Amino acid sequence: MSPTVVHVAPHPDDEALGCPGALLHLLDRGWRVVSVIASLGFSNQWERRRAEFEDASRRANFVPVLLDPPLDISLHDDLAQATERVATEVPRIMALYEASVVVSPSPHDVHHGHETVARGVQRAMDSLPPSVRWWMWGIWGDLPAPNVFFPFGEPALTRMLHILEAYQGELARNDYRRLLVGRASTNAVLGSERVFGFGSPAASSLPYAEVLTEVRRVGRRWMASQAHHLDQGPLRDEQFSADLTAWVESPSVHQLVDPIPEVPGEDEAP
Ligand SMILES: [Zn+2]
Repeated sequence: MSPTVVHVAPHPDDEALGCPGALLHLLDRGWRVVSVIASLGFSNQWERRRAEFEDASRRANFVPVLLDPPLDISLHDDLAQATERVATEVPRIMALYEASVVVSPSPHDVHHGHETVARGVQRAMDSLPPSVRWWMWGIWGDLPAPNVFFPFGEPALTRMLHILEAYQGELARNDYRRLLVGRASTNAVLGSERVFGFGSPAASSLPYAEVLTEVRRVGRRWMASQAHHLDQGPLRDEQFSADLTAWVESPSVHQLVDPIPEVPGEDEAP
């Protein structure tokens, strides 16, 4: 049985933007990547977004899984109920595929849909084996304490762009290809110091990078691994020595200030 990672994307395309480099790297090393999509956006977008997701999964060679029915995670939906469904579905999927790593946005990713799904994964961790590692990425909100660094070059970027380009409908709204390239460049410059400490030399000469926050449940605490390159994992139990409980469990910023509003897309039903 191949080792398996389950990626939980709030929307179709998040699996192509969150940490596609790390997922493809695991795939190349014999891992199975199960790509779960929680929602398909507004109901009149379902058909297009499902087709784009299936195309992206074929391009990536990920195992596609859609929550059925898709979650409603628009701003005025019942987000507590959506969190509950993620907390129930993720352990079932993790058990089905015997996965050892779950990946999602961080619970502080600012977008209400991303945080809703992340809070569900956070809850799900309580019913998963304690050996399961949770990798978090940041798209809308940056990670304050990344501890995993993954550098990559032009061929990996080209492959990621090919996957992202399955999402023509989303790219027509906003060119996320530029985000993928720009964020990867930013992480290559800032990532070494953010992961390994201010003043650290560049951790790689490659032009692009991803950063992640990796935690495990240790009792009631959320313990982060020591800073490492992706290929240096998995670490021993005692190397999960940094306590991120206060951050993981703290309220999201948008529980303290108004949420960023949501503007319907052009193809939304009236
Ligand atoms: Zn999203």
